[in-house]
Amino acid sequence: MHPIVIIGTGLAGYTLARELRKLDSITPLVMITADDGGFYSKPMLSNALLRGKTPAQLISADAAKMAADINAVIRVRTQVEAIDTVAHTVTANGETIHYSRLVLAVGARPIRLPLEGDGADDVLTVNSLDDYARFHAQVQGARRVAVIGPGLIGCEFANDLAGAGHAVTVIGPDPHPLGRLLPAEAGNAVRDALSAVGIQWRLGTVVSRVERDGGAYRLLLADGSEVHADVVLSAIGLQADTRLAQQAGLTVNRGIVVNGQLRTSAEDTYALGDCAEVNGVVLPFVLPLMEQARTLAAVLAGREAAVNYPPMPVAVKTPACPVVVAPPAPGSGGQWQVQADGEGVRAEFVDGTLLRGFALTGAAISAKQALVKQLAAL
Ligand SMILES: Cc1cc2nc3c(=O)[nH]c(=O)nc-3n(C[C@H](O)[C@H](O)[C@H](O)COP(=O)(O)OP(=O)(O)OC[C@H]3O[C@@H](n4cnc5c(N)ncnc54)[C@H](O)[C@@H]3O)c2cc1C
Repeated sequence: MHPIVIIGTGLAGYTLARELRKLDSITPLVMITADDGGFYSKPMLSNALLRGKTPAQLISADAAKMAADINAVIRVRTQVEAIDTVAHTVTANGETIHYSRLVLAVGARPIRLPLEGDGADDVLTVNSLDDYARFHAQVQGARRVAVIGPGLIGCEFANDLAGAGHAVTVIGPDPHPLGRLLPAEAGNAVRDALSAVGIQWRLGTVVSRVERDGGAYRLLLADGSEVHADVVLSAIGLQADTRLAQQAGLTVNRGIVVNGQLRTSAEDTYALGDCAEVNGVVLPFVLPLMEQARTLAAVLAGREAAVNYPPMPVAVKTPACPVVVAPPAPGSGGQWQVQADGEGVRAEFVDGTLLRGFALTGAAISAKQALVKQLAAL
């Protein structure tokens, strides 16, 4: 019997493998990963500096331990180069591997800005443990860090870097931080709280050039101003990695297109996690991929199942200003209703009398459970 092959050992690949083993302890399982296969929680990457974590300390189980725990063969530092969905094979490091069912859990890639200047290629992104190792090495001894992107991941890194003693400047076009997730009052509360821990903002403008300047960098902004930094981190967002799927002829859109059973357009081929567009939506967060993993495990074990998301609030890891947000579904009608006091902001996205989403900052995050209940009751 050919094995089930899972490409990727991120949270999506490993959560699926664990869920599958709860239902099926026998079917041979092969996992193939371009990285070292160590299990780590990716959300920890943006709050690891302050806690003094080295890259190695973020790994809770190495590939050998994971292989033993989930009864799988794990092939590490192995890049899948091609998929043949008719022959049911993948090619990895030049070798052909047969599968009975194939799962793509290949994640997302950081979007790179088209920056000019001789320092543009030195701009760091952090979306893997290997990336974190490079970033961790470079910030040791660096004082000034420029963060491009005032979104969720940019704000988390900024708070972490500031807490670890770095002088941080965050740059981006939005009028306030977390501009795509929060109404202005809540975004401004985040801005003020992060300013109070020393973070500087250059909002309403973008970086156009990054130039090397001795051992440091000069960033030229579209508004004509400059920022000087020893390390430059870009956190402007991720895009689903659809390259392998596209080469294999699978239907892709913003992600690898799958239905509620996580099936792609090819027989016996599935996708989940950051790479997948499930029922038309890409949700690059942990809670959705866990629901996807439970569903796909059931499907692979021959059971009836379909993705059914509960409300999935996201906690933004900015300890200077805790934030919880449950964004309204794309295209939802309605508007924000905001209550703010000195302690926090409570914003509810309502359509008539129906709650469609919410954003809470500071002390107002205590309302999370009650609002989640309201959303779940819809
Ligand atoms: C800094 C940061 C903080 C975050 N914080 C939060 C948070 O607080 N809450 C939250 O819900 N979400 C958060 N997220 C998002 C969350 O971490 C991701 O949604 C999740 O980890 C994605 O897991 P994945 O397995 O789909 O992808 P990945 O973790 O990217 O895994 C992809 C895997 O595929 C492998 N791979 C790719 N291509 C190939 C190939 N061709 N051949 C072989 N192997 C391949 C890679 O080696 C890797 O093992 C954060 C993300 C980042 C970057």
